[in-house]
Amino acid sequence: MAANSDETRLRGVAASPGIALGPAFVYRIGQDAPPVRSLSDDDTVDSEHARLDSALAAVRNDLLKMKKESPGSVGSALAKIFDAQVMIVEDPAIHAQVKQAIESRRLAAESAYAEVVGDAQKAIVRSNDPYLREMANDIEAVKTRVINQLMGHGADSRHTLDSPSIVLANTITPADIMSLHKGLVLGVVTQTGGPTSHMALLAKSLGIPAVAGLGIDLRTVRPETRIVIDGFSGTVILNPKAHTIEFFERKRKRTHSPWPKKLEAFREAPGATKDGHRIAVMANIDLVGETELALAAGAAGVGLYRTEYLFLQKGEYPTEALQFDMYRQAVETLNGRPLVVRTFDIGSDKTTPDAPHEANPALGVRGLRLSMERPATLQAQFRALLMASAFGPVWVMVPMIASVEELEEVKSVWLAVKSGLRNRKIRFDAKTKLGLMVETPAAVCMAPELARIADFFSVGTNDLVQYTTAVDRGNARLRSLQHYWHPALWRQLDGVVRAGHRAKIPVGICGEMSGDPLAVAALVGLGFNSLSFHPNSIPRVKALLRSATYASCRKLATDVVASATSAKVRALLKNFQKRMTVNSRI
Ligand code: PEP
Ligand code: MG
Repeated sequence: MAANSDETRLRGVAASPGIALGPAFVYRIGQDAPPVRSLSDDDTVDSEHARLDSALAAVRNDLLKMKKESPGSVGSALAKIFDAQVMIVEDPAIHAQVKQAIESRRLAAESAYAEVVGDAQKAIVRSNDPYLREMANDIEAVKTRVINQLMGHGADSRHTLDSPSIVLANTITPADIMSLHKGLVLGVVTQTGGPTSHMALLAKSLGIPAVAGLGIDLRTVRPETRIVIDGFSGTVILNPKAHTIEFFERKRKRTHSPWPKKLEAFREAPGATKDGHRIAVMANIDLVGETELALAAGAAGVGLYRTEYLFLQKGEYPTEALQFDMYRQAVETLNGRPLVVRTFDIGSDKTTPDAPHEANPALGVRGLRLSMERPATLQAQFRALLMASAFGPVWVMVPMIASVEELEEVKSVWLAVKSGLRNRKIRFDAKTKLGLMVETPAAVCMAPELARIADFFSVGTNDLVQYTTAVDRGNARLRSLQHYWHPALWRQLDGVVRAGHRAKIPVGICGEMSGDPLAVAALVGLGFNSLSFHPNSIPRVKALLRSATYASCRKLATDVVASATSAKVRALLKNFQKRMTVNSRI
């Protein structure tokens, strides 16, 4: 494909809406093993050794330069990482083994380096020594740099994005996007990932069109290839012809507004069914700046503020003072509407390159587990949030709860922080609610007990789906299983709402499914008090709700919960949605 300049259409998953046109920027091209290449008859072992040595020297110089340039407070932590990486570049044993592989098997330097370092990585990942396992990340970073250097892509493609481009990557994490995004990322295309992967959610928040799960090795696309991506349909076109470009330019202009004109009037409408059953339609945000977008779309408040993006932007925990500023800013913008804030959900794919390696990160030290390992960080976040509550309603929730003990422990930290503030006579709203994200099947099972401790529930279906059905939300090969129609999910949602309401606490849902026109009526029918999702979908969801009665939504929910198959659930929802669309004329 690399050499081919014919127009080529590829199909992936629509991950973030919008149209983007631009040149390809192939990100971290050497991250996966490069294709194995042998030396040709014209290549000499000596010249390949020299190529290796000069690549290693270039990477070493880059690392030392970055160490020198690393700013202020992050300086010393980063310096340690760079030191460790320089040691790996200089490692004499690796150097000797790579040279040996070049000489004895006539492998090209990048293939020999990938093989030798890859074997070292495997041994380390299997090791029980936590120090060695942490080193695996540094080794990965060095391997990427050296291979990129040898393949002529520059040691670290991450730092080379200097003009507006469409980023192509086999995998990309939210932290990667944050480090690239300076208005230069026009769009994102990945080989892996699905519509609820964190890459997709962040791309939506930043308004960047994205297509995931393309299923081809993106390393074969030549840098600078012209590309069109259609994030509505999941289409990617390489080397588009003039008429294709024209067609998508027109589509880009037409779809630039986040919602069609005919939905404009629904922004200000209350979230309610035709017969007046109220439901709070709220917005999910990743960055404080999106609060205004949420209000412009007609949100009744922010139903999920993912604070971990404060961490991902810099790769370090934000100070208490910075957090207080951010939370207060959001509260003041919301002007009396609630701000539901989730404590840092760091881990899994929302992590930084220097985080310890984990074999199963989605089942690893993620969310609350990490916060509990760093109690001072959790306390600082609670303090900043409580202080912001003096300026308007703040609801605080913790992610990834799997047991009553965990919630009890969180609550004792919460109460201790409150009494600390009281002792210091610092103002906060004593009635600030503490709740939890219900996103593990264990939390669903324990919902009746958890409801006695918590002030509210918010169901995180993006994760609940993956943990219930054992389907990694970021695995493109499982695309056909990444949906919200499994009856096991609906039965769990039913149980959570009932448990919450029996304990008289509000129950919301903040997974992306709550903004899906197909799912909203049944979710309202289950009795959820609030729905929270990407703000761009708010006008459409409000319009649909106003075309159905609460009784019909309840009947739909009962039928869905009684269904035995995903196909049946989907058919019921599709039928209902058709009727709503006709009734609402949208
Ligand atoms: C969820 O899991 O549904 C959720 C809203 O949280 P996140 O997508 O950030 O994991
Ligand atoms: Mg989650």
